[in-house]
Amino acid sequence: MLNNQSQPRLIRVFLATPLRRGFDYLLPAGLDAQPGMRVQVPFGRGRRLGVVGELDVTPDVETDKLKAVEEVLDAAPLLPDSLQRLVRWAADYYLHSMGDVWQQALPVLLRQGAPADGEEQYWQLTAAGQEAPDLKNAAKQQLALARLRQGELSDNTLAGEPFERAQLRALADKGLAQCHSRHHKGSPFWERELTVHPGPRPNPEQAVAITAINQASGFQPFLLEGVTGSGKTEVYLSAMAEVLKAGKQVLVLVPEISLTPQTLRRFQKRFDVPMALLHSGLTDNERLAVWRQARDGELGIVIGTRSAVFTPLARPGLIVVDEEHDASFKQQEGFRYHGRDLAVVRAQLEKVPLVLGSATPALESLANCEAGKYRKLVLGQRAGGASQVRFDLLDIKHQPLKAGLCPQALGAIEAHLKRGEQVLVFLNRRGYAPTLLCHECGWLAACPRCSAYPTVHKGRQRLICHHCGTDRPLPHQCQECGSSQLVGVGLGTEQLETELAALFPDYPLVRIDRDATRRKGSLESALDGIREGRYKLLVGTQMLAKGHHFPDVTLVVLLDVDGALYSADFRAAERLAQLVVQVAGRAGRADKPGRLLLQSHHPEHPLLSQLLLNGYQAFAADALIERRQTMLPPYSAQALFRAESLKQEDGQSLLEALAQALQQSAPEGGWALGPLPAPLERRAGKFRFQLWVQCPDKKQLRRWLSPVLSWLETAPPHRRANWSLDLDPVDSA
Ligand code: ADP
Ligand code: ZN
Ligand code: ZN
Repeated sequence: MLNNQSQPRLIRVFLATPLRRGFDYLLPAGLDAQPGMRVQVPFGRGRRLGVVGELDVTPDVETDKLKAVEEVLDAAPLLPDSLQRLVRWAADYYLHSMGDVWQQALPVLLRQGAPADGEEQYWQLTAAGQEAPDLKNAAKQQLALARLRQGELSDNTLAGEPFERAQLRALADKGLAQCHSRHHKGSPFWERELTVHPGPRPNPEQAVAITAINQASGFQPFLLEGVTGSGKTEVYLSAMAEVLKAGKQVLVLVPEISLTPQTLRRFQKRFDVPMALLHSGLTDNERLAVWRQARDGELGIVIGTRSAVFTPLARPGLIVVDEEHDASFKQQEGFRYHGRDLAVVRAQLEKVPLVLGSATPALESLANCEAGKYRKLVLGQRAGGASQVRFDLLDIKHQPLKAGLCPQALGAIEAHLKRGEQVLVFLNRRGYAPTLLCHECGWLAACPRCSAYPTVHKGRQRLICHHCGTDRPLPHQCQECGSSQLVGVGLGTEQLETELAALFPDYPLVRIDRDATRRKGSLESALDGIREGRYKLLVGTQMLAKGHHFPDVTLVVLLDVDGALYSADFRAAERLAQLVVQVAGRAGRADKPGRLLLQSHHPEHPLLSQLLLNGYQAFAADALIERRQTMLPPYSAQALFRAESLKQEDGQSLLEALAQALQQSAPEGGWALGPLPAPLERRAGKFRFQLWVQCPDKKQLRRWLSPVLSWLETAPPHRRANWSLDLDPVDSA
């Protein structure tokens, strides 16, 4: 469609700046643009890529002062209408720059101006490759060769293959294969016959859930609540089968850490449709290719982490959010959106059913069920007959501790190991010890850039700050008195590993945390070792609590839960309860019931006892009553302003001015609290302050904040501090 008008039109363009407003430009005659297309525009002294918002706007300044669009990059809007609406909704809801939301919604290469319909790389055998004998000494190359003999292979769909790009390159170096690029053109998945391999026969609860999801017409949100192993994934798979058979696509969102090749393999075993994983390990090219294939309907299933919520789909049919309570769905910097919440909105805009699954639903989601917004589907038993885990609370007051463990816990570990079973010891603190102390004078090594103590890493002989990454050699002398009597205080996984290995020398031990799994492939091989039973004692952090199932683990010990019970963060209890249930869910199977031990100095804590005696549902019901009484989310709306500055007074004074502005316009029941120092007052050399804002209702909160934000953007009290806004904050750090 050409623009035949002789007069240039006026368009509003959204640029990736922190400013929420759009910028107006002239669209020269002869150029055509529609909302959602990218344009190149002059900006300041340079040029920028932007996305067209509205056409024929009334400009804020005189027309002859406006600059002209230089180039229109797309022939059609980049995103389907529903997704454009999601972008607008998100910018509006989170009071965030529309241009920045657009950026976040697009793959990196498209942000940089790459064509939306580009070239793709294919691997193919050469004539020599067709005739080559088997490669006896290179097993993986042989697999690659065998795969290419079946036909060409797109460079973007290597994720599911048992070899990597390196092997293809090695084949190319030998002259056996070649990579060529060509204009991508595939066919939608629904044009091919679909094979669904049968799964287990659903139990009655599963059958109810599957039918409910498949009978939903249009938008309908479900909360699927069931402990790990209760068969939630089977429900997703069965519901997906119907959707795929109807020629529609499925989007599955999963937490960062549980996105594993196993997830993909399980899906591939069930469905013979093209599918792709979207995760942080992809190259920019791979990401863009998946984006295109999803948009063009070539993929039946897209599985990805939070940003995958923006993947365009030609024919969406179902959205699934697994482990919907997981904190990794919330982006913690820049555009601080919640992937689950946007998935709900997206399902609404696409008019498709939505399944939120969890063993430990977020209190927000449970409140939505209570309010009748979501329908709750419960899986009460472990599928395949696995038994429930037994909980025990160990009072460690006055108890002698070895490796942080009380005698009863040590006894239990020994008993389970002797029976040939696996034991998992969970401690959410990596490193050797969280502080380094001088035994002579009491000096504590501090991070020079944060208000925090750096962690002792003994294996690497470093002192590392987990907040800013400052890393220095482990000192051997006290900086105050020169003594060499330096001791690590407190317990981290590295030390736990050493001490447990000494206590139980006959049982092979593996540690799983960010440090121990730094090398590529080391996590996979550790997990394989656990599954094959090569390791008997498992020590780990959060990484072990998610996504993996260890059927031969019959005992789980949680070392340190007291911190969460008396935290200043009102969500700490919810998070602890979720962690306890998730960790417990890793353990046991039908013939070997699991057991969970929690060590605490406060075994009488009402929340802990409710959780352990009556389970997560009872705990959540209590916690919701408490939230309602104290008017905390989900029964109110919160926002958190953060400020950071090199000089302490700058951040503080900015938030003081902001607090004043907010107080002047506060609606009934709304309050602003602060500025307060952040829990970590200084990080990476900067001082940090917070201002909490709360209001009974979300709409009201945004109406209150919006004008104050505009003031902050256009006429800030000063520019010496950086500020950010977090709506529906989940983390008070
Ligand atoms: P979740 O996703 O809730 O952790 P899964 O769907 O992974 O649970 O199921 C746990 C295990 O039980 C899997 O090995 C799965 O194959 C099996 N399973 C699930 N549903 C059934 C069923 N109806 N009959 C037999 N086995 C089942
Ligand atoms: Zn000293
Ligand atoms: Zn630091």
